Amino acid sequence: MARSRFILLIVALKALGVYAGCSRGKPRLQPYKETRQLMGIEVAVSVYPPEGVSGRDAADKAFAAIERVDREMSDYRTDSEVSKISANAGGAPVPVSAEVRNVIVRAAYFSRLSGGAFDVTIRPLVKLWQTAGVDNKLPSEEAIAKAKALVDWRQISVLNWTETEPSDSIKLGKAGMELELGGIGKGFAADAAIAALREAGVKSALVAAAGDMYALGSHPDGSPWLVGIQSPDSEGESLPQTLSLTDMAVSTSGDYRRYVEIEGRRYSHIIDPHTGRPVARMASVTVVAPNATDADALATALSVLGPDKGMELVRELRNVQAMMIVRQDSGPPSVVMSDGFKAFITPESK
Ligand code: AMP
Ligand code: MG
Repeated sequence: MARSRFILLIVALKALGVYAGCSRGKPRLQPYKETRQLMGIEVAVSVYPPEGVSGRDAADKAFAAIERVDREMSDYRTDSEVSKISANAGGAPVPVSAEVRNVIVRAAYFSRLSGGAFDVTIRPLVKLWQTAGVDNKLPSEEAIAKAKALVDWRQISVLNWTETEPSDSIKLGKAGMELELGGIGKGFAADAAIAALREAGVKSALVAAAGDMYALGSHPDGSPWLVGIQSPDSEGESLPQTLSLTDMAVSTSGDYRRYVEIEGRRYSHIIDPHTGRPVARMASVTVVAPNATDADALATALSVLGPDKGMELVRELRNVQAMMIVRQDSGPPSVVMSDGFKAFITPESK
């Protein structure tokens, strides 16, 4: 092809939004990319649409799924199903959609699996520590004990539908209990977006709900999706940066992005339900898993469990790998990886 015609073709394809790049002289398709602010975070969708569907229409479907999940699950919206369950704690069960039932059942599964390190009823403790941040004053022992007494995933009842009650309903056993899906909801939303894309015939996409992502298929040339993982301030240490993923999810929980500062000290936004206090040593936890809901819940659970118990749990699970960056009393943080994690790190970033 004459050079001028080749450049013209690139310009035309760029105008159509399907091409932007060239590797070894061969044009390489680029995905349609769009970012929106949803659920209080940045959500990015990259998609290769199937024939006859525009990238924008496919991405719209993914964003619509995330908006639906947010409507059902947000604790900022008083009219969300999750807020209604919390408002009715200790009282009548609240009818819920299959999606809300599924995320709460999955959350309870990870609570059991992690010995209560992950607890979707953590909200009273989260609120206590948030208020402590605003007041710049550590909470009292009594206040911690009072909030802790309201955190117990075993008090969640899921009642199955009957002929007179044609939907599942959920009840929290004690008045004052509250649900908080912050540790699992973004991953669940990413999975919902991927389900919507699959339904639209998409075979290749990346959905990133802040640090919770799913890579569907691979690029059309067969290469995997490359996902950058944020590493905390590593004091000069070189840490793995990029993972190669195909049909896998990755989640990162870290205390370097979201924390509260009280009396001159930083506290993590992740709370250990057993002590009622923020976790201290885990700078970041990255989990690779077959779906984003599980990766999200596990990254939060491992942040509470710490490196020894956390890696023990990872070894028990199939198709789950993890990397933890653990602060030390002095010197640089240590990096702990499960055996199979290395396989996901791109050679250039090892
Ligand atoms: P992530 O960034 O996914 O680790 O989620 C952190 C969020 O999970 C926090 O901001 C809280 O909303 C929530 N959370 C904190 N501690 C826990 C816990 N022990 N179990 C479940 N969710 C938690
Ligand atoms: Mg999480």
